[in-house]
Amino acid sequence: MNSDCIFCRIIARQLPSTTVYEDPHTLAFLDIAPIVKGHTLVIPKTHHDPLLDTPGPVLEQLILVVRKLARAMRSGLGAAGINITQANGPLAGQIVPHVHFHIIPRFNDDQHSWAAPQGDYDDDDDRCRFATQIQAAITSDPEHNNG
Ligand code: AMP
Ligand code: ZN
Repeated sequence: MNSDCIFCRIIARQLPSTTVYEDPHTLAFLDIAPIVKGHTLVIPKTHHDPLLDTPGPVLEQLILVVRKLARAMRSGLGAAGINITQANGPLAGQIVPHVHFHIIPRFNDDQHSWAAPQGDYDDDDDRCRFATQIQAAITSDPEHNNG
């Protein structure tokens, strides 16, 4: 537990929240400011951040609960679609530094737009340079051959 972390304090019941699902490793609760009503956050009960540095076994449990919640929104809320998002770092819009997934049910009349402008690469060299740099980092990552 990180006592400076609001999500750790929610897990410890030091702060209120509306629980949707809980198991020994995971807590899911309603976002206090929903993008669409039913918007739920799924967090591990141990403090990790960002996702990039979160152990694989923790993420494996977490993503299965994300799927469980998404399925429940489809069958229980009648969601026509589901957005699943996850931010790492303030520049990416992360506010709370405890790894979490947002699960957002979507309805025909929810008035929410996910449209974002998309760009392009300058040319083939520009595109290949990005792919090559990412590929090189993957192969040099010590975790690469350890799952
Ligand atoms: P992020 O920008 O990915 O870090 O998202 C953090 C989310 O936590 C935001 O959508 C907030 O509305 C939500 N949030 C912050 N405090 C609380 C709280 N006490 N209970 C429920 N949700 C919260
Ligand atoms: Zn925490």
